[in-house]
Amino acid sequence: MAEEMKPQYGFLLLADISGYTAFLAKSELDHAHGIISDLMDLITGHLKPMFSIVKLEGDAVFAYASADSVQRKEHILEAIEATYVAFRNRIQAVHRRTTCGCKACGSIPTLDLKFVLHAGSYVKRMMAGTPDLVGTDVTIVHRLLKNSVSGGTGWHAYVLLTNTAREEIALPAAHLHHSIEEYEHLDPVETFSFDLQERFNEIVSERRILAKVADPDLTFDILVHAPAPVVWEWLNDPDKRGITDEATITVQTRVNGRIGEGATFHCAHGKSVAMEEVVEWKPFSSFAFEHHESFATLLFVFDLVPEGEKVRVSVRIKLNPRARFLQPFSKPIARLMAKAIRMQRQFDRFRQYAEEDWNRRLSVPSTPS
Ligand SMILES: [Zn+2]
Repeated sequence: MAEEMKPQYGFLLLADISGYTAFLAKSELDHAHGIISDLMDLITGHLKPMFSIVKLEGDAVFAYASADSVQRKEHILEAIEATYVAFRNRIQAVHRRTTCGCKACGSIPTLDLKFVLHAGSYVKRMMAGTPDLVGTDVTIVHRLLKNSVSGGTGWHAYVLLTNTAREEIALPAAHLHHSIEEYEHLDPVETFSFDLQERFNEIVSERRILAKVADPDLTFDILVHAPAPVVWEWLNDPDKRGITDEATITVQTRVNGRIGEGATFHCAHGKSVAMEEVVEWKPFSSFAFEHHESFATLLFVFDLVPEGEKVRVSVRIKLNPRARFLQPFSKPIARLMAKAIRMQRQFDRFRQYAEEDWNRRLSVPSTPS
């Protein structure tokens, strides 16, 4: 007998490997299955810290996250993009490494990944000991796997959002591909999509910022026992940063509705207000921002490198005093400043809160609610 539970509201996500059917049809099956199962593991591994995985459905991963488990809703899109980058990097690496001449191994580069994201209600049910989700919105997200986006745009990899998901994330409709999808027995579904290939190119583009911190004035190295999406959030969510930095941080401008290069923040410490501008944004691996004080600009460059179940955060800071005569003294000034605002303590707090947050999430079994 099925055990019924209360309806919940949240994000419903399908990550679907495209090119899969053609890939299997013309492939040596044992190699093809090995490649696909490796990719499915990679996708679930990257989605897991934020999403609960419902199940694997052939060439797709079905996952969900309750709405109140995601504070900064845009984090959902960053998780999707980071997963896509990992997927593409894996495909390139496997293709480069293989010496096998079989059809499966030869056609690895034709595989791609698309995401369908909906926000709606679902009921969690135990079916013969296995949890599953049911409800009209669950049906909708599955129907949307067959859609007009590739035909209308030529995109192979994309994120398709229903209008409900788009509104939940507060993503502006401008710059998105709009379409109406129609299915039997369902009301027409309004959708908005964007190209993942373009996001991939932006995220893997050359890191010009590194040249500017080749000789940093300050460095910090923090090993955090939490996965990258959680660490990223404690470094970037304005509310969470506000807690660790004892400041009030607010988003001033977004770029096409997103945090990314060119987005700005206000950072208020007591009476002083500083403006911050994002100058690099590669979720969940690196980001950088310029922090403008009246006497100087500080460039912060963050790198997140996974080490097993931990993430090493390396911070490089370059101080650029406005007064020219102070510029040769950027190192001692930066050290004094770090001491004055107790920067080490801010990073200690960040590590502590990120780890506590992750431990809390781990202790809630399988369903974040
Ligand atoms: Zn092969």
